[in-house]
Amino acid sequence: MSSQSPIPWFDDFVGVAYRYYDLRMNVVPLFTDRKEASSIWHDTIHSWVDPSIKIRFLEIDDKYWFILGSDSQKPSTNLSFFKELPKSENYERFKKGHGGEAYLRLGVYAKKLLGDVKKDAVCDCSHEAQDHDDGDGDVCLFNKCNCKKFSSFQVNLLKRKKIITDIKFLDENDVKDDPLVWNCINVNKFSKFE
Ligand SMILES: [Zn+2]
Ligand SMILES: [Zn+2]
Repeated sequence: MSSQSPIPWFDDFVGVAYRYYDLRMNVVPLFTDRKEASSIWHDTIHSWVDPSIKIRFLEIDDKYWFILGSDSQKPSTNLSFFKELPKSENYERFKKGHGGEAYLRLGVYAKKLLGDVKKDAVCDCSHEAQDHDDGDGDVCLFNKCNCKKFSSFQVNLLKRKKIITDIKFLDENDVKDDPLVWNCINVNKFSKFE
């Protein structure tokens, strides 16, 4: 294939959030550091040409590969993004509800501990902060819950956004027909296939 792209692949981000915001679904690659997210936007995504932005979801069993890339007006600092992630409820909601169009923006992911939140904040175990012991260890006191430590997270979206209109959900049989996905899998996964 002539599609071997020299654009480097980047996977040093923590995940992807899917959120309704401004009446459209937003696809939000998540970073833990606001400065890093801002510089990725400034150096790379800012120069992307909206209609050429491609987002691919390669589904393999209960996981998927998130793959994102575009032509850039500044090819020297261009990157393509990928991350292997577990399918989630929000992912499935996005898959059903995107309607062929989404906003791309970056987000900053912050972990919240028991001391940082209000009483009704919800823990990853689905119970509220006030159900957790605020003495030693903050175990969940809810009947039969085995959560040992309160933990939740907050996502702050950066304002800048791009519109994505080229969105595809694929499975392993489609890999060879999609140059971006083919390149991603070749560069980042082939060793694992063997
Ligand atoms: Zn909990
Ligand atoms: Zn709990």
